[in-house]
Amino acid sequence: MPSPLDSLVRHTRVAYLSMEIAFDPKVPTYAGGLGVLAGDTARSCADLELPVVFVTLASREGYLRQEISPEGEQVDHPDPWDPASRTTPLGAMVAVRLEGRTVWIRPWLYLHACPLGSCVPVILLDTRLEDNDPADRGITDRLYGGDEALRLKQEAVLGIGGERMLRALGFEIETWHLNEGHAALLPLALLRRRRLPPDRLGGGPLHYDIEEVRERCIFTTHTPVEAGHDRFPYPLVERILGDFFEIDQLRLLAGAEALNMTRLALSLSGWVNGVASRHADTARRMFPGYRIHAVTNGVHVPTWAHPAFRRLFQAVAPEWAHDPDMLLRADRLPDEAVWAAHEEAKAELIEEARRRCGVALRPDLPVLAFARRMTGYKRPDLLFADPARLRDIAARHPFQVVVAGKAHPQDGQGKALIRRIHEHARALRDAVPVAFLPGYDMALAKVMVAGADLWLNTPLPPLEASGTSGMKAALNGVPNCSVLDGWWVEAWEEGITGWAIGGEAAAADGEHARDLYHKLETTILPLWHGDRARWIWMMKQSIARVGSRFHSQRMMRRYAAEAYLR
Ligand SMILES: *Cc1c(COP(=O)(O)O)cnc(C)c1O
Repeated sequence: MPSPLDSLVRHTRVAYLSMEIAFDPKVPTYAGGLGVLAGDTARSCADLELPVVFVTLASREGYLRQEISPEGEQVDHPDPWDPASRTTPLGAMVAVRLEGRTVWIRPWLYLHACPLGSCVPVILLDTRLEDNDPADRGITDRLYGGDEALRLKQEAVLGIGGERMLRALGFEIETWHLNEGHAALLPLALLRRRRLPPDRLGGGPLHYDIEEVRERCIFTTHTPVEAGHDRFPYPLVERILGDFFEIDQLRLLAGAEALNMTRLALSLSGWVNGVASRHADTARRMFPGYRIHAVTNGVHVPTWAHPAFRRLFQAVAPEWAHDPDMLLRADRLPDEAVWAAHEEAKAELIEEARRRCGVALRPDLPVLAFARRMTGYKRPDLLFADPARLRDIAARHPFQVVVAGKAHPQDGQGKALIRRIHEHARALRDAVPVAFLPGYDMALAKVMVAGADLWLNTPLPPLEASGTSGMKAALNGVPNCSVLDGWWVEAWEEGITGWAIGGEAAAADGEHARDLYHKLETTILPLWHGDRARWIWMMKQSIARVGSRFHSQRMMRRYAAEAYLR
């Protein structure tokens, strides 16, 4: 029986590997921005008919279902799903040797089809098999779960297993795109093929040297936070992957003290990029000696546009879904129609706040929204730095706040931030309604980015690589108010697409908080309350100037032209 994959196998030339991919909003195979970006990348590849196959882990236990206790504690739960419910099993098996045992991997296929009919395959790698030692069955179960040994095994399944799986399925891949360092063992697996005699390869006579491997590999780095780069001690690497690699050779490619996955990917990739101009600058400083390009992230417009805005776009730019550059025409939209679409989206957010946490928000007051991973450098509590000042501002220019975001189960500081935000919310109850919506995921993100009046972002520069939620907000006519970091450096036009908090240099928390309060008090809130026509003009500028540029169609055209066709 022909598999649904046959014709795709023949045409596909590029493989994109990512530890997490939000290929279907209902499937919890992602933790946050990295996975949502990978999902938007797949959706744009389908739209543009780019010959790319996506590879990730099955993550049957998901990442984290977030419950918030009445005291504001995050309670962590697994978030299980059944691959058989949404994907098709494929009849191939490959094995990798980990810690001296053979670990079998089987593939599941998800086909993402764009409305025009073309589709891209997503292959999910799964070790939950009877044939495996019970100790190995759960390797691919929990995204970012477990200790560093488990993480290394997951990365081996993704990088080494992923390469073998595509070969076993018949793909002839010319270009391998590593989305973040997690898949950096893949180029090493390609390199290793060279040292084996052809009859042991199982896939024909491939002989790569390091230059050939580099020609075939592309690496996108996402992490300006030093601690964000995976590092594995060599004794651990020896124990788990000793059958694969000579550690002395690895030290030359991946760092002398520990296996640094970013270093390894940099050493073995011929084309490297950061995810915004500012981030590429930071990455060049972190890794001198490498040529690092910049491809600014983008979001998939048809996925993130609220239905009410989709209808408006259709009227002025029928090609908008395929070619979001056309959103430049958004400045022609009638003011009343834009405001009516916004009110429709805002009513849904208000309903969601009532349903999820019982907070009553008002449609006639502005909603400031903040949704990010709850972790130190994102400073989710910056808005609450001076509660007395916040009360004072709200007394003259009333507003309300919605917040969402998960803390990684092992990020104690992130969990403390969630607690603190709940304390602020309680203390401010009589002056500023604050709703913390539990369970931030794609579905909730869609409601928030469309229903807010202002999208806030307050990271500590230069630690935000790009950020994408502000792009989703902008294309729904929501102006941004953000620290100048990541993508916002490129999209910010003061008083047109939104507002900057602070200047381009790093600043202390107190300084950024003061600047945020000053802008809210003297500019943003008076404008919302007092000059609706000007506010709607800014909404349209956000769609026209930001929505038309920061989309994943543009991002993928650039990867295709500059990296894949190199
Ligand atoms: C878009 C999105 C993100 C990433 O947003 P940032 O602005 O990069 O923080 C994270 N999680 C979900 C669910 C998203 O939809």
